[in-house]
Amino acid sequence: MKAHATEDEIQEIVRLVEQLDYSAHIIRGVERTVVACVGEERGEQHSLTHLETAPGVERVMPVLRSFKLAAREVRPEGSRIKVGNAEIGGKKLAVIAGPCAVESKEQVEAAADGVKRAGAHLLRGGAFKPRTSPYSFQGMEDEGVRLLEVAGKRVGLPVVTEIMDPHDIDLMVEHADMLQVGARNSQNFSLLRRLGRTRKPVLLKRGMSTKLEEFLMAAEYILAEGNPNVVLCERGIRTFETATRNTLDLNAVPLLKEWTHLPVVVDPSHGTGMWSLVTPMALAAVAAGADGLLIEVHPHPETALSDGPQQLKLNVFADLMKSVRAVAEAVGRSL
Ligand code: PEP
Ligand code: MN
Repeated sequence: MKAHATEDEIQEIVRLVEQLDYSAHIIRGVERTVVACVGEERGEQHSLTHLETAPGVERVMPVLRSFKLAAREVRPEGSRIKVGNAEIGGKKLAVIAGPCAVESKEQVEAAADGVKRAGAHLLRGGAFKPRTSPYSFQGMEDEGVRLLEVAGKRVGLPVVTEIMDPHDIDLMVEHADMLQVGARNSQNFSLLRRLGRTRKPVLLKRGMSTKLEEFLMAAEYILAEGNPNVVLCERGIRTFETATRNTLDLNAVPLLKEWTHLPVVVDPSHGTGMWSLVTPMALAAVAAGADGLLIEVHPHPETALSDGPQQLKLNVFADLMKSVRAVAEAVGRSL
């Protein structure tokens, strides 16, 4: 739409688009509004090009990539996703920190205090854990979600936790500020669709063998159902290299920033699997243009019930934050 298109003109275009059997998604940017039309082009009579002459329309532009609503073209300035009192996207970086799993009230409260003091913006903690072995600790489930919520409220940080099963969605929507879809569920399309029917911010992790185009198509499932609040997370992929848990794909950061308006966060904890590599790769991610970081932090990593080797102690996390601030400023961002 033209920069000064009226609300009536926008609504009229939505009506015309729907009449042509496309779904219309209104995307409101800072400068202008885009009406994204998704559907199959089935011959002349369904063509959208004649809408170019309608009042308020600037131009009709085909998006040739397979992902439509996620495409950079529909929001060139980039999306900012509000999560409680935090925001992901924009000049300021967002840091999500906390333990891999909520293990007890004492543990999550200590983690919350530590990450808040160091300057994190969101608190994380898994309550439903996707473990490779069914004999490993599976998480505190409902109780874990509630402990995380209480800890987050006390220190004033919005909370992020992983959803594995669509049946838990009501519980999760009520008690968490952002829902993580883990690498193993990255292409669980029924879960993605279900999340798309809420307005809850979603932290969508890249699957361990998901190509970037497939990753954006997974995001598209959420967007197409009407939930625009999606943040992407690069967390490392499987390669032939076994010296590290995963290979953190930092190519993904600038490439995703070219392809999509969605914010991109990097998780060097799962990306490396080794606590000593987390700070250097976090700094590299910020230098590469990430909009935020996801860092696993535990008050006593040596006793952690999951992902102990990659979790940072509270003092190491505090040092990471200082270094991140310096790199952020060097590349025109802030913390
Ligand atoms: C996690 O965040 O603790 C997690 C299980 O991550 P991923 O899905 O990336 O393996
Ligand atoms: Mn973990």
